[in-house]
Amino acid sequence: MMPLNIGVIAMQGAFREHCRMVVRCGAQAQAVRRAPAPDDAPLQGLDRFDGLIIPGGESTVIGKMLAESGLLSAVAACGRQGMPIYGSCAGMILLCDEIEGPGGDLLDQPRLGLLRARVRRNAFGRQKESFVSHIPVKGVAEDMEAVFIRAPAITAVGKEVEVLAETCVCGVTLPSAIRQGRLLATSFHPELTEDTRFHAFFLSLCQDYARQKAAA
Ligand code: GLN
Repeated sequence: MMPLNIGVIAMQGAFREHCRMVVRCGAQAQAVRRAPAPDDAPLQGLDRFDGLIIPGGESTVIGKMLAESGLLSAVAACGRQGMPIYGSCAGMILLCDEIEGPGGDLLDQPRLGLLRARVRRNAFGRQKESFVSHIPVKGVAEDMEAVFIRAPAITAVGKEVEVLAETCVCGVTLPSAIRQGRLLATSFHPELTEDTRFHAFFLSLCQDYARQKAAA
């Protein structure tokens, strides 16, 4: 096993919880607030990481802060080069290439646009409609505690996207965890539980990437 260094985007939201999970899984976590090496365009020093995590929070705020810091294009470039990226909740929204409001109208907000998927913000209702469910996540666990907080859902995917989990939204079953190569996104928050299996799964993708980087 190679020692892994994971960058956790720390503009806003639940980044500490992700750092804690990464450390519990035996890797190193570093909070990223600004470009680690601003002169080193276009990846801005993010290539020192073996993977990146974008936490839950408010996708408009995180997206705006990423754009202002110059990190939005650097993170997108990392993803295009094959670096594993995991986004939970607001992080899922930022990874998708189409974002819609709860009513289905297309929104124009900063995004990474790496996942060929359409995501609906607040698809499960408002804050007071937040809930915990137990769902199977393909390749990860038969039964995972999934915490949904003003969570998004995926309403359409491209053929390169694999659906790992689904959840029922107002009588309709929609994807709540997806994967496209080394990109992962969940509507829910494994970092708010004691279950490290989703993060361990993400770190296994980071391990492959780190090995490939070392061999190059
Ligand atoms: N509703 C938030 C958004 O649209 C996401 C909520 C979360 O990350 N828990 O950005």
